[in-house]
Amino acid sequence: MSLTGVITLTERLYYTDSFLTEFEARVVAVSREAGDAAVTLDRSAFYPTSGGQVFDTGWLELPGTSNLPRIRVKDVTEDEETGNVLHIVEGGAQGLQPGAIVRGAIDADRRQDHMQQHSGQHVLSAAFEKLYGFATVSFHMGDESCTIDLASDAVNAKQLESVEKLANQVIADDRRVDIRFATPDEARALGVRKRPPTERDRLRLIDIGDFDLNACGGTHVRSTGQIGAILLRKTEKVKQGVRVEFVCGLRAVRTARRDFETLTEAAAVFSTHIWEVPQQVRKSLDEIKSAQKAQHHLLEEVAELQAKQLLQAAQNRGEYKLVVQFFPDRDLAYIKMLAQKLTRNGTAVALLGCGGPQPSLVFGQTPGLENDMGALMKQTVQQLGMRGGGNRDMAQGGAPDRASAEQALLQAAAALR
Ligand SMILES: [Zn+2]
Repeated sequence: MSLTGVITLTERLYYTDSFLTEFEARVVAVSREAGDAAVTLDRSAFYPTSGGQVFDTGWLELPGTSNLPRIRVKDVTEDEETGNVLHIVEGGAQGLQPGAIVRGAIDADRRQDHMQQHSGQHVLSAAFEKLYGFATVSFHMGDESCTIDLASDAVNAKQLESVEKLANQVIADDRRVDIRFATPDEARALGVRKRPPTERDRLRLIDIGDFDLNACGGTHVRSTGQIGAILLRKTEKVKQGVRVEFVCGLRAVRTARRDFETLTEAAAVFSTHIWEVPQQVRKSLDEIKSAQKAQHHLLEEVAELQAKQLLQAAQNRGEYKLVVQFFPDRDLAYIKMLAQKLTRNGTAVALLGCGGPQPSLVFGQTPGLENDMGALMKQTVQQLGMRGGGNRDMAQGGAPDRASAEQALLQAAAALR
């Protein structure tokens, strides 16, 4: 969006007071585009998205015009050309004209959350650097959680625990957080954590008492106690190092509460204490595995017996016995097992089918017999519009439904030599 008549840069009120949530300002410019408008003010407490921190939301209103609705500020950005703060408002900003005096009010809960996350990030980055020399290369603030990327190949659980402990100790110390202004040379002499860009002649430094000094344009708390708490979450390997997820302040409380509720629900399922959940889950998985093993053995025995019965009752077809049978309640694994037993325990051709969620066919013959099960299966499934195949002695395929599987068995039997 283009701006006209902009001469001075927006005075950023949050630079010196992050707790200012209401202010008065003069409208410098309004540009309208596609139903929204970008409003430039001569001064503003609204934070525009930058440096990993997301924008404030809030309202603009014209004092003394109670009949006009408050105008919602839904996004705040920096104008790349002018460096001005742009307040993106809904509905075209009726009544706002250059020269008008407006009252701005920012969403204080959102601001507090951002201050907690961002100030917590300073403490966290400093703790990683102090304890292990891992520099922070980037910071991202999301809706749910925040991340920093560390210049490191790996961060282990012990290191995470130590950093989390130190960071929370600094919070418990309730150290002062001061804002200072200095030249890049002065900043370096003071021992700033991250080497600041040199093109600016005046830097804003965030000084966490005897713990960290860093150049930053964001909004921060007045003392570390206001961060509340830092909770480290998962880590993952990324291109530039290791990404560490974290939450601060009330987000940490919300996250811990959700974790607790999730664990409590899982513990109730197992009728156990939440700390016993991993042990119970492992135990249950072991039990499932041995139950599956036992079931497999039982099915082997059932198949062995059933093969015997079927062979006894089967009709003779010259040199072999023919078994044609459909099992509505069995699955493919079982009829495969049965086909193997039928063709190994006697001289037989077995044409078997099963129902269940995935109706299937298995054709088998005792090796040496002169039919071709693979070819017979291909021919059968082709007619059904399904897939299947195999070798000369054993083949399997799918059927669209139970009735066509049963029908296909009879057709295949008629095609045998
Ligand atoms: Zn900062």
